[in-house]
This record gives sequence, structure tokens and C-alpha cells, in this order.
Amino acid sequence: MTIVKNSVVSITYKLSDTSGNVLEETEEPISYLHGGYDNIFPTVEEQIHGKNVGDSLTVILEPEFAFGEYDAELVRIEDKDRFPVPDVQAGMQFEGQSDDGEEMLLYTVTEVTDDKIVVDGNHPLAGQTLHFTCTITDARPASEEEVAHGHAHGEHGHHH
Ligand SMILES: [Zn+2]
Repeated sequence: MTIVKNSVVSITYKLSDTSGNVLEETEEPISYLHGGYDNIFPTVEEQIHGKNVGDSLTVILEPEFAFGEYDAELVRIEDKDRFPVPDVQAGMQFEGQSDDGEEMLLYTVTEVTDDKIVVDGNHPLAGQTLHFTCTITDARPASEEEVAHGHAHGEHGHHH
């Protein structure tokens, strides 16, 4: 089957950085609803469009199409004694509002000194170019319900 809009596509994939370090790899195929539903990276979706079951492809994702450019303004320095979490250590992650209060960001503690804590609201993969290699393992037409919900159901898809 050729991948067209409103196909449920199953893929196995591997996400690596430009040095070839594997960041993420599927053990089981994942399924997504194809056709602009924002289920996977849009650049990957564009490349999968028109392909067939059995095809493999590698898509190079520039930072702006992956996890965003690195934004130095998302780095914040906080006073340790006013920090809400006790015993903070580098590497800890927590959710918090962005400075403008408009979105929730995942902050990573990057440095802890005697009185200051540095937190970084960039995605850990921000600023990185990524290689997304995938194989299309299966495809089928989506059900009306899946199209209405905007995601795939079933074994490797969304469970309610
Ligand atoms: Zn659903």
C-alpha cells in the first residue's frame, strides 16, 4: 500500500545525532495517523508520503524541524535558598512555566553552586541536527473514528 493522507502507518525508527550516537530506537513498530495530524516530525511525514510498505528512508532534521534552536534566554539562574525543590542536583528535570507564562517547559538543572542553581529550559536535543532513519513496516486506511480523533488506534497506536 502507498502512503496517502489518512493512512495508519507503522514504522520502526532510529533517531541519532550527527556523530552517529543513537538517541532513541524502537523495539516494536509504532503507528501514527498520516496526513498532517502532527503525530510525528512534519519533515519525516513529508518524506514518508507516497512511499510504500517495506521502504526505508533517512531524513535529516535540522534543529528547527526537530527540537528547536538552542535559546540562551531559556537558561535561568535561581537563588538556591528560594528554589522550591530541596537537595537539587545537576541533571534533575522538572516542569515549569516559561518566563512569559505561555507554555510549560521541561527544565534541566545544569549546574548547582553553593548559592545558585542554573536551569535550562531548552529541550536536551535543542540545537542538534538529527538523523531519523525509519522503515515502513505496515500501512492501512484509517477508520473514520481515527480520522475524527486525529490519531491511530490499535495495537501500536493510541489507547483510550
Ligand atoms: Zn482516539
